[in-house]
Amino acid sequence: MPTHGPTLPKTMKALVTHAPGDYRLEEVPTPSADPGEVVIKVHACGVCAGDSKCYDGAPMFWGDETRPRYVQPPCIPGHEFIGEVVQLGEGAGDKYGLEIGDLAISEQIVPCWKCRLCTTGNYWMCVEAHVYGFRPYVNGGMAEYTKFPAAALNYKVPPDMPTDKGTLIEPMSCSIHAVQRAEIDLGDVVVVAGCGTLGLGMVGVARLQSPGLLIATDLMDHRLKLARKLGADLTLNPGKEDAVQRVLDLTDGYGCDVYIEATGHPSGVEMGLQMIRRLGTFVEFSVMPENVSVDWSIIGDTKELNIHGAHLGPYVYPLAIQYIHEGTVDVEGIVTHCLPLEQFEEAFAKVQSAEGSIKVVLEP
Ligand SMILES: [Zn+2]
Ligand SMILES: [Zn+2]
Repeated sequence: MPTHGPTLPKTMKALVTHAPGDYRLEEVPTPSADPGEVVIKVHACGVCAGDSKCYDGAPMFWGDETRPRYVQPPCIPGHEFIGEVVQLGEGAGDKYGLEIGDLAISEQIVPCWKCRLCTTGNYWMCVEAHVYGFRPYVNGGMAEYTKFPAAALNYKVPPDMPTDKGTLIEPMSCSIHAVQRAEIDLGDVVVVAGCGTLGLGMVGVARLQSPGLLIATDLMDHRLKLARKLGADLTLNPGKEDAVQRVLDLTDGYGCDVYIEATGHPSGVEMGLQMIRRLGTFVEFSVMPENVSVDWSIIGDTKELNIHGAHLGPYVYPLAIQYIHEGTVDVEGIVTHCLPLEQFEEAFAKVQSAEGSIKVVLEP
């Protein structure tokens, strides 16, 4: 029995994954908090591009001959949630500084704390890879309630944080980490490719690093408009102009110092390898729905690039909460749609098409 909190209803409404394209709204048992655990009433949960690719059966989630299967159905999807603490297992309140009624959030990954990555401080690359919403052990936030396991990393969120902005804390943590991986120097010409939620956050965070010129690219002009609001000096639409040539022209033919790839499309990699300068730093953030083929020699023989991967948002949740809460990064306008959980199909379709939408949020 949990040590604190009210009695919750025995069952709750939840979205459950069964197979690609087969997600069902079901009545499932409500979680309860054992020692060290926290149960929240979910206020909202963002739909990640990854959730949408997963729903469409992308091979990196469901597994094919070449990649292991990531999703273990049946489970409840969603890792971009925010909610109110309704149960605290023994010790959890003290451990996380949480009380019943607080707004709270949990890092995307629940580390095992036993593997070599976890024991050396690199918990975000834990070999168990228990990210919320892909396995039953760490059910996600597309439900009325969700549980933070005892091994989770949880944070209190200021009570006046608007719900829609609260769902952007998880993506903001990824944006911050990706920009940290870019190692931007004073005066650098920085290109952020892809202005979805993640790319827009990267533009806002990269602005704080005082680059010499901050350029954002996207195929949709409504997203580029928001990128300018977040601090991009210049925006380019590669669907309408030769973005590579523009960047070369702006840099005396050398290319950009830093390129952050957040398009989710193989062409974003190709474009970056073309427009980055010799000895530049290329950050790869996107999850690609298919394998990418490029001229690999550019990385070594031609340009001697620093290729930095970026995954999740380790050690920066408090900063992500602060940036959003204080408006250091102005995320106004990124959440374009809030839909009830029942309309999950429409929400996933909006994320997939991306037309007129950026972040789509579900409210259970
Ligand atoms: Zn995500
Ligand atoms: Zn681990």
